[in-house]
Amino acid sequence: MIVKHTCCNGKSIRFCFHLYKSNLAFVPKCNPTTTEDVRKLKEFIDKHHRLCILTGAGISTESGIPDYRSAEVGLYARSNHKPILYKEFCNSEAIRRRYWARNYVGWPRFSSLKPNITHEILRDLEYVGKVECIVTQNVDNLHSKAGSKKVIELHGTAFRIMCFNCDHKIYRHELQEVFQKLNPSMVATTQMIRPDGDVELSQAQVENFNVPACDNCGGILKPDIIFFGENIPRNIVEKVKNNIENSDALLILGTSLATFSSYRIVLQAVEANKPIAIVNIGKTRADEFMNLKLEGRCGDILSKVWQLNASNNSIR
Ligand SMILES: [Zn+2]
Repeated sequence: MIVKHTCCNGKSIRFCFHLYKSNLAFVPKCNPTTTEDVRKLKEFIDKHHRLCILTGAGISTESGIPDYRSAEVGLYARSNHKPILYKEFCNSEAIRRRYWARNYVGWPRFSSLKPNITHEILRDLEYVGKVECIVTQNVDNLHSKAGSKKVIELHGTAFRIMCFNCDHKIYRHELQEVFQKLNPSMVATTQMIRPDGDVELSQAQVENFNVPACDNCGGILKPDIIFFGENIPRNIVEKVKNNIENSDALLILGTSLATFSSYRIVLQAVEANKPIAIVNIGKTRADEFMNLKLEGRCGDILSKVWQLNASNNSIR
């Protein structure tokens, strides 16, 4: 099925629903969305012309990446895994070795995951001029892969590597080639991955894994992501705050707002008197501040909103 419509500023969008097949293995159970809910969200999107959109792990579950906190299907529910802490990574060579060994094995699958219908619709909303910015907590690069430009990566990206000691940065793909050369007997393949690309390995596999140093200065390499317990860089916090002030509403998708860095964005929007809508499965930390709350799967709800737009032949 191909839906084609022309929006208010004359740009044409071709939207191919048959291309988007959601992977629902990591999506929590939820009730079907009501038509009334879809209509309310469409009104919210129609009414506001400079949306700040905040996204979380809940929008990437349909691409095959588990989130952290959902009941039954989230990472915490499926295992006793807790994400690595910033201090642990800084202070322990053994922990860094384990981190990189798992990350190396998980990388081919993690890096090849595709955007889903939610990413595609957000890209198209930006294309028709409705988006002030997309602030994402995800490090999976799926907004950029979908073609979104106005993306602020609140927690960085797993696709870039930095050095603790100098300004040197490299693409994660380049590091994979270095890992391969240093660890020829290690096979990089897995089925089960985590939101940051991590996987399970045996102790022996971890202990024998060779980790390179920065080829510029010999310093310690770190993924350019914000670990738990690490502060968000001030320039990113300021950039998000400015974008909130310049927007006319906040739309939150697929996050329980458990991290303070995301909760703070809601507080900033409340402070600036911006209306707030959220689509999420389950409770969030900030339900009391929501002008509109929809329980459900982002891909399902947004595609129904988009279909309504298509049938009306406009995004107002
Ligand atoms: Zn360096």
